Amino acid sequence: MDFSLSDDQLTIRDAVRDVCARFPGEYWRELEKTKEYPTEFVGVLTDLGWLSILIPVEYGGGGLGITEAAIVLEEIHRSGGNASACHAQMYTMGALLRHGSEAQKRRILPEIAAGRLRLQAFGVTEPDAGSDSTKISTTAVRHGDQYVINGQKVFISRVEQSDLMLLLARTTPLDRIEHTTDGLSLFLVDLNEAGSSIEARRIPMMFNLHTYQVFLTDLVVPAENVVGEEGRGFRHVLDGWNAERTLIASEAIGDARFFVDHASAYACDRTVFGRPIGANQGVQFPLAQAYAATEAASLVRYRAAAHFDAGEPCGDDANLAKLLASQAASQAGQAALQTFGGNGLSVEYDVERKYRETKLFEIAPVNNNLVLAYVGQRVLGLPRSY
Ligand SMILES: Cc1cc2nc3c(=O)[nH]c(=O)nc-3n(C[C@H](O)[C@H](O)[C@H](O)COP(=O)(O)OP(=O)(O)OC[C@H]3O[C@@H](n4cnc5c(N)ncnc54)[C@H](O)[C@@H]3O)c2cc1C
Repeated sequence: MDFSLSDDQLTIRDAVRDVCARFPGEYWRELEKTKEYPTEFVGVLTDLGWLSILIPVEYGGGGLGITEAAIVLEEIHRSGGNASACHAQMYTMGALLRHGSEAQKRRILPEIAAGRLRLQAFGVTEPDAGSDSTKISTTAVRHGDQYVINGQKVFISRVEQSDLMLLLARTTPLDRIEHTTDGLSLFLVDLNEAGSSIEARRIPMMFNLHTYQVFLTDLVVPAENVVGEEGRGFRHVLDGWNAERTLIASEAIGDARFFVDHASAYACDRTVFGRPIGANQGVQFPLAQAYAATEAASLVRYRAAAHFDAGEPCGDDANLAKLLASQAASQAGQAALQTFGGNGLSVEYDVERKYRETKLFEIAPVNNNLVLAYVGQRVLGLPRSY
């Protein structure tokens, strides 16, 4: 059992750290003021190839694994930045990699790797289905060699910052399927060609993320853009969720480390009542607890990543990692806010921004309640609640 990163992995971490140093807190704070997308940051990551490290070498990518992607995303978040503007390309593409036809892969993956095409949007969630994703009602009806799609999605991120969207839609009505996961199909939608058949309305959020309500009206998608098998789209999506959870856990771990790093430094520096505030156990212990929680989450996350990269089952670890990491990040954020006192609430210290940002990980891409239900029912064998 080896718990250390390899020399190559340390090199990746240091290289990403150097890139992030060019985008300090002021950069992210300025974007918050205008609610703008971090175009420059994403552009640099794209140009340096960090967003295409999961694409196999034969399609022009880096040919690396989820472990390396986890290192990249953790480092972005540890630096005080936020990868949610661009992380989806890493795991959304997984569905295409595993289930796309060779023609689709040859057409799209090299373009993504070269930075000429963005696959940043993944349309699953619907207003009436919420976490119960198999109950989505957006329909795709086949007419000859094309499908016509109608429906509505919500919280679909980066629609306006993407050229392609992977979209889940119902191809067989709910009352004609045997299993709840049947009858859904996955489509590659060209957002640049969709015209008025897709309307995206930005949802104002408590932090600067570009997420949208999406209205689909008679959207025409060629049959050649079905990814994988018709009717098995939900299963294809499920396959990618372990990668997504492991990577989201990595971002949360990065946030947790940001909080612990900064709050520890501040607690050594800030003197009140004639001594550094960090000497007080009321300040020190919450930080020590948060550090312990972060380390535990990190180990489970690397175990999930190692199993994923070895092609072994990793659902239990990926879910546990997402749960533990999101909780560790919130705990660390809370400890940091307290440590910084009034400065924690002041915008210039970045703690309040990071705290708002990290709350997302308890809710999306899957709510922690649903993760606990997975652990209770799938791991512990307890009775199902849904
Ligand atoms: C910023 C942001 C970005 C997102 N980006 C995307 C995206 O790009 N693409 C996409 O498809 N989706 C996206 N989502 C959607 C996200 O995946 C959902 O918000 C999430 O899955 C939860 O669904 P919901 O918000 O409808 O909550 P609901 O399903 O309405 O749940 C509300 C509450 O009830 C609880 N609950 C519901 N059922 C149960 C149960 N059986 N047992 C216990 N508790 C239960 C939940 O845990 C939660 O606490 C995004 C969401 C956010 C907030």
